[in-house]
Amino acid sequence: MSNSDIKSMLPDELEEYFVSVGEKQYRAGQVFKWLHDGVTSFEQMTNLSGNLRTKLSNDFFITTPKVIEKHESKLDRTIKHLWRLSDGAAIESVLMEYKHGFSICISTQVGCRMGCLFCASGTNGLERNLTAAEMIDQVLFSQINSTKRISNIVLMGIGEPLDNFDNVVRFIKLITNPLGINIGARHITLSTCGIIENIDKLGDYGIQLTLAISLHAPDDETRKLLMPIAHKYSVDKLLVAAEDYYKKTKRRVTYEYALINDVNDSPRHAQMLARKLKNSGSHLNIIFLNCIPGRDFEPSSKTRADEFLDCLKRNGISYTIRRNLGSDIAASCGLLRQRSGDI
Ligand code: SAH
Repeated sequence: MSNSDIKSMLPDELEEYFVSVGEKQYRAGQVFKWLHDGVTSFEQMTNLSGNLRTKLSNDFFITTPKVIEKHESKLDRTIKHLWRLSDGAAIESVLMEYKHGFSICISTQVGCRMGCLFCASGTNGLERNLTAAEMIDQVLFSQINSTKRISNIVLMGIGEPLDNFDNVVRFIKLITNPLGINIGARHITLSTCGIIENIDKLGDYGIQLTLAISLHAPDDETRKLLMPIAHKYSVDKLLVAAEDYYKKTKRRVTYEYALINDVNDSPRHAQMLARKLKNSGSHLNIIFLNCIPGRDFEPSSKTRADEFLDCLKRNGISYTIRRNLGSDIAASCGLLRQRSGDI
């Protein structure tokens, strides 16, 4: 094993390693704990012998992102970090304060290949997947840098989590481990544009996270104007996949719907949305679109939004409206993007 990414390893994989090099199995727990406490070198693992520390540093590396920029919102104290990864790639994460504590929105890929027309993250396509350790690091070092204890995680930053399935599942296993950062699956939300095979696969794992689906239109015709993925999967198939997910995990699915002026915000859209979501046991999260420079889409006018929401209410659909945090530091939904050098 030469120079592997040790922070992406699960405790049983570490155990296997230690046994294979003639060390005691319990070293795995010690090392796992150090890594998820945020040490940046093996030298800091003071309960290991000097020889073992040298051996580890020959076999492994410890990912340590650098903060390139840190912006703190003057409106709501949201903190956005721009991180430089070991290969020079840049990603963003956003720390938000809610009544119940601190929540972090993390990136899962460098760039994104889903190409949603209203989102900035996909502007330059996909550069690469993030490793599980690089996802852990966003939580770990945001927590260390801000001295705030993070209690909730949303996988809603740059990238499509279900397009990086294995690393995302590994991240969830690592972050929920009691020896590590130890955030319960119920405090994690994964947002997807709706890759059906992987929603099915995730449901089979039975992880107790909240699945959020970026729906944004109740019909295929409108959805295709916004999201290339709609050419692959129909809205109706997506709703069935979500229902199956709910049956398998007993976790209520959230639908995200960004109101876009004159595109998906007519009373006809509201009625169709209400009809399709009624009795589905799901939750609807309404988002006010953030404008992306150079794109035609605009947030719904107040009149259109009010009419749309009234129509939902009349049709018995309840919803919540997503708070727009960090709007003065480009930290809001859809504004995050990988920027390497062009800041
Ligand atoms: N790829 C995943 C997660 C990243 S996007 C997904 O598609 O869900 C996180 C959320 O922000 C999604 O609901 C997405 O649709 C929304 N979003 C993207 N661009 C936006 C914009 N310009 N304004 C408001 N919300 C946006």
